[in-house]
Amino acid sequence: MEPVIVMKFGGTSVADAQRIKHAARRIVETRERGNRVVAVLSARGTTTDELIAMAEEVSAVPDPREMDMLLSTGERISCALCAMAIHDLGHRAISLTGSQAGIVTDESHTKARIIDVRADRITRALDEDRIVLVAGFQGVSSTARNVTTLGRGGSDTTAVAVAAALGAEVCEIYTDVRGVYTADPRIVPDARKLPSISFEEMLEMAASGAGVLQLRSVEYARNHGVQIHCRSSFEDTAGTVVLAEGDPMEQPLITAVTHSVAEARLTLVGVPDEPGAAARIFQALAQVNVNVDMIVQNEPASAGGRAEISFTVPREDLRTASAALEPLAGESFTEMSRSEEMGKVSIVGAGMRSHPGVAAKVFTVLAEEGVNIEMIATSPIKISCVIARDRVERAVQALHGAFELSGPDSISEEQPFTA
Ligand code: ADP
Ligand code: ASP
Ligand code: MG
Repeated sequence: MEPVIVMKFGGTSVADAQRIKHAARRIVETRERGNRVVAVLSARGTTTDELIAMAEEVSAVPDPREMDMLLSTGERISCALCAMAIHDLGHRAISLTGSQAGIVTDESHTKARIIDVRADRITRALDEDRIVLVAGFQGVSSTARNVTTLGRGGSDTTAVAVAAALGAEVCEIYTDVRGVYTADPRIVPDARKLPSISFEEMLEMAASGAGVLQLRSVEYARNHGVQIHCRSSFEDTAGTVVLAEGDPMEQPLITAVTHSVAEARLTLVGVPDEPGAAARIFQALAQVNVNVDMIVQNEPASAGGRAEISFTVPREDLRTASAALEPLAGESFTEMSRSEEMGKVSIVGAGMRSHPGVAAKVFTVLAEEGVNIEMIATSPIKISCVIARDRVERAVQALHGAFELSGPDSISEEQPFTA
């Protein structure tokens, strides 16, 4: 039987008619090389942002179910248009919504998780010699049968989940850069493309803000043994392959610098120093599905004193998080303060496990730049610092330089993003 290849095209790669036709040609070429092809497409260009803005024009707090009905339309448009372009190239194609493609999720609107892929309709279409276009970023909830969406960047996860269900040879993520770089090439022009990266490092990178692959797509690929190849949709060059084990030949101390400018911090003052205090606070946040990132708490210095807890959440969740905590005021804390303009810079590298002194170097570099570190968290292969949002860009550039991550194959040789 012919092998299956899943090809995912991101928003920039299908932004206008010319690019949709270009994607259609690449899909057809892969089919003509003797593969069965499923293409997962994102919404065109800034469509998702525009849909969110539309919702906010009519409602201060848009209803999540209706938000998903609205947001899911963007990827459907891309798929229908691309199917038309493929027909004109002389191939049979069919576009499917997430629900038609059998993407079953839990019920959490706007951040749903895929729990099953019932791929029989995709398989049938492939058996009928069709190219299948699946609308990314969406599914149908298992009990209420509502349309759901998978969170920003969710088409990556659709592609990986479909690849897993079909036993695809590879899941190719076509995007507007050549692959995964040592830092976001938009802010570090001499960042270097990595030929391969381990799941372990890619997970840390995705979790700390490298939006090139959605975190859940990397988790899903690791759990289901899917091979990801992240590459350029504009040129036919090899990109970055995510491997179960990193390349032992490529084991630098630090692999990448990542960042996020979309953080917010909440600080709770006057938290009782007793068992269960933190549990109450974080249970309230879990109930409303807010993903807490960094948490810092100190034991009160004096006996009978009260603790302070600070933690970060994605800025878009700040309102939900504060609303969930307000009823606990008095019993679980006395005061809550919020900082909206936070960012985060992280360095990731499996090599740091066996090398002391990396943290000291990070802090020194940031100090030399006059960047104030507000929170710190580490894992065996990552050091993250929460800093002011407007210092993030400079901090990333300084760390990338200090750890000597630049090299050949940088973005400066690549064609412009606007191509
Ligand atoms: P798509 O629409 O194709 O899904 P995204 O915008 O989600 O594209 O992801 C690609 C973008 O990710 C790049 O344009 C780049 O600015 C950004 N990015 C951030 N960190 C990295 C990194 N380490 N390597 C490559 N790209 C990165
Ligand atoms: N269109 C969605 C977004 O902009 C999903 C995706 O592109 O992966 O987040
Ligand atoms: Mg993306």
